[in-house]
Amino acid sequence: MCVFKFIFPFVIFLTIICGNKMAQNNPIDYKITIVYNNIPGDTTKGLSTGFGFSAWLEFGDDALLFDTGGDYVNLGDNLEKLKIDYKKMKAVFISHNHWDHVYGIPTAMGASKGIAKVYAPAKSAKSILEQYPRMTIEGIVEAKEILPNIWSTGEMEVTYREIIFTEQSMIINKEGGLYIITGCSHAGIIEIVKKAKSMFPGKVVKFVTGGFHLNQLGDDEVMKISNQFVELGVEKIAPSHCTGSRAIELFEEEWKGNFMRMNLGDNYSF
Ligand SMILES: [Zn+2]
Ligand SMILES: [Zn+2]
Repeated sequence: MCVFKFIFPFVIFLTIICGNKMAQNNPIDYKITIVYNNIPGDTTKGLSTGFGFSAWLEFGDDALLFDTGGDYVNLGDNLEKLKIDYKKMKAVFISHNHWDHVYGIPTAMGASKGIAKVYAPAKSAKSILEQYPRMTIEGIVEAKEILPNIWSTGEMEVTYREIIFTEQSMIINKEGGLYIITGCSHAGIIEIVKKAKSMFPGKVVKFVTGGFHLNQLGDDEVMKISNQFVELGVEKIAPSHCTGSRAIELFEEEWKGNFMRMNLGDNYSF
């Protein structure tokens, strides 16, 4: 009896230590699901399309919401229909303070019961908090790891329609390479990829998704961007939201098997 009294806690201790070790050695799988988009995906899912962008990123037992779309009712409806387990939500990442990315914040806060911490570009954090009080917000200035292996590019300055503001994008740093999610890419999609590469020298960019904001560009300029992606060693692209239908068409022709659709309800695991 006495022997068991000592051995049993020791076995428990070993199990915990070994369990932790195994968890560290097992690379986490990530899954991105597009929960808000102006470009519909599979319409049989009955999701609500609206202008804006939001993506659900799941990793292990945790998850975060990247941007929140342009309508909180539609966002809530889509989270329900896609059977998103929003209790897992640890963070809300706001790329920039444009209505089509922040108007769903009330739904995000409600779904996480106010627990999720909001990460926003520092220059917009105050005005976002004024619009949506009673949440914990952290203003991001420099590149930062907000959750294990999940990084912000840090604030990137933008001049858009003569207004100066800042924007951040997200990088998931996996052993095999980098996965980038952008909101609107007002800072320039190529600049964002370059920033990610400068943060992780020598790492290959496996995947870029989100809004690339190329709707004002002619075919030649879009092709220039496409070639720059190639020069930067980007492996796969999934342009959506504000990229522009003509630009998306050109990318699809050019990138063939390395072009992916990430429209409303679509998902990608890596
Ligand atoms: Zn925008
Ligand atoms: Zn947008």
